[in-house]
Amino acid sequence: MRRNGDSLKPYVIPFVGLKVGQHDFQFDITETFFEAFEETTVSSTSEPIEKANIAVDVLLDKKQEMLTLDFSFSGQVFVNCDRCLDELNLKLDDQNRIIFKFGDEQFEDTDEIVILPESAYQLDLSQYVYETLILSLPLRRVHPEGDCDPDMVRHLQEGEEETKEAETPLADPRWAALANLNKKQSK
Ligand SMILES: [Zn+2]
Repeated sequence: MRRNGDSLKPYVIPFVGLKVGQHDFQFDITETFFEAFEETTVSSTSEPIEKANIAVDVLLDKKQEMLTLDFSFSGQVFVNCDRCLDELNLKLDDQNRIIFKFGDEQFEDTDEIVILPESAYQLDLSQYVYETLILSLPLRRVHPEGDCDPDMVRHLQEGEEETKEAETPLADPRWAALANLNKKQSK
């Protein structure tokens, strides 16, 4: 799918060779893991992950007709605060289960159940790990109230107001003319 390089190779599990039963996989995730996705993801809506240090544990339970994967992860990522742009440390501690069923049943995948073709013999966990981690991050990434860099917040607010003032007259030349007229009249 959307990837290049070998950094994601360890995430490919050739499950066909595994015995029925439980198998444990562990991954240490750093920012390079996210980079591998970010550089190939077209619509990256949020700021990149600057630093990451996450331990991911995947418990794979293999049965004849399905694989149950329990992802549990804990660690931290560093991003830039949406409000003050300063470094923000987000702690991650969560888990997620995905069930992979074999077959060509014609119903849609859900978040929890993924249908694998009978011919599948390996599973690339990287995409699921990535999505699990990204979904566990808050959408709005800001410091707790009062913890933002106060100088930066003031600076950014001033910048915003200046931009607004500078842009308004340009938005419509008639308004600009009117504004100038009002200024003259008030003198
Ligand atoms: Zn902040």
